[in-house]
Amino acid sequence: MNVLVINAGSSSLKYQLINMDDESVVAKGLCERIGIEGSKLTHKVPGKEDYVVEEAMPSHKEAMALVLKALVDPEHGVVANINDIDAVGHRVLHGGSTYTQSIVVDDDVKKVIRECFDLGPLHNPANLMGIEACEANMPGTPNVAVFDTSFGMGMEPYAYRYAIPEEYYTKYHLRRYGFHGTSHTFVSRETIKFGQLPEGHQRVIVCHLGNGSSISASVAGKAVETSMGLTPLEGLVMGTRSGDVDPAVVQYICDHEGKSVDEVLTILNKKSGVLALSGNLSSDFRDLRDAEIKGDEKAKLALDSFRHHVIKTIGGYIAVMNGVDAITFTAGIGENDGDMREKIMSHFAYLGIKLDPEKNAVRGKNIEISTPDSTVRVFVIPTNEELAIARDTVRLVEEAKA
Ligand code: ADP
Repeated sequence: MNVLVINAGSSSLKYQLINMDDESVVAKGLCERIGIEGSKLTHKVPGKEDYVVEEAMPSHKEAMALVLKALVDPEHGVVANINDIDAVGHRVLHGGSTYTQSIVVDDDVKKVIRECFDLGPLHNPANLMGIEACEANMPGTPNVAVFDTSFGMGMEPYAYRYAIPEEYYTKYHLRRYGFHGTSHTFVSRETIKFGQLPEGHQRVIVCHLGNGSSISASVAGKAVETSMGLTPLEGLVMGTRSGDVDPAVVQYICDHEGKSVDEVLTILNKKSGVLALSGNLSSDFRDLRDAEIKGDEKAKLALDSFRHHVIKTIGGYIAVMNGVDAITFTAGIGENDGDMREKIMSHFAYLGIKLDPEKNAVRGKNIEISTPDSTVRVFVIPTNEELAIARDTVRLVEEAKA
């Protein structure tokens, strides 16, 4: 079965065509500057040169039409016919409190995605446009919505409820949802599978550390905790996001700088995090590490603060699960920065966690990086959200046929 995975952003559309017989990526690409002058499609097929199309894309509908044209192109294409694409899986940011799992798209699903525009103002409208563009260009092909919030929907009320008046929950569904859900689901499941964790010993902490970072705790794949909240702003110090701050900080900046709440939230999302702590040096952890090595005090503060919040969160999650069987690192920093992993894990030496330095230096594949006598097993597992979306798509389309 060929599954097309779509991740539509406000002005971009990423895609991968995956052959689910062997889970191989047949083609992938990116449409940029949708709705803006200078739109461009870059289409990549393994073993071939990139195919670039510079053509107007006033909306996601035209972008989708160009993607399909590239996929069936006699020279650069990978399928003979659009009908060779059996289903489409869409990453959707917010499913509100309605959807706890992925679902085949129908009018009700589209209605819920639309109702969640307020909760995911940048992503949900784009996600819906992506779905509608597929419906328009590929009538009859099933679309599946995979929500980034599904994983967090598994939490218990004492973990997901904010301790604020109940009416805000009942009227507006204000609660902690958590994001990176597709990654946390995929990586926690892969940890159990790859590590062959036996039943009853499947307490897993996943550290998804990238430009956006979040940590989750789960037992046998069911979420216990996750660090992001109503929006991805809550939790860890991130590339440009502040993570947790006292809400009074927002009021103080508004009062003293004459800014609106919206403006301050933009600052907390885009101009904060390690970028701000490093004195606007960079939000990229490689730049910060290089600067720290050269003695830059602000870069050191930014990295120390990032690690501090990661360590605090892991420690808290070990406590709420009464222990932990495996800790897994994933995403840009989690997968590539062995020094960061070592510095974080060394804080848990008192628990008997020990890393093998040689294994900790390996990159690009699933690997157990702890020593055989470590009390907790530690893994690096590259995340693969597209594959997770494609797997859910196959499962749901097959269930719908049965
Ligand atoms: P996102 O998907 O949230 O945009 P990624 O998961 O791709 O982010 O992670 C991007 C971050 O990973 C970059 O900001 C970069 O700092 C970090 N990163 C990538 N490679 C390395 C590396 N070798 N060492 C340290 N950090 C790295």
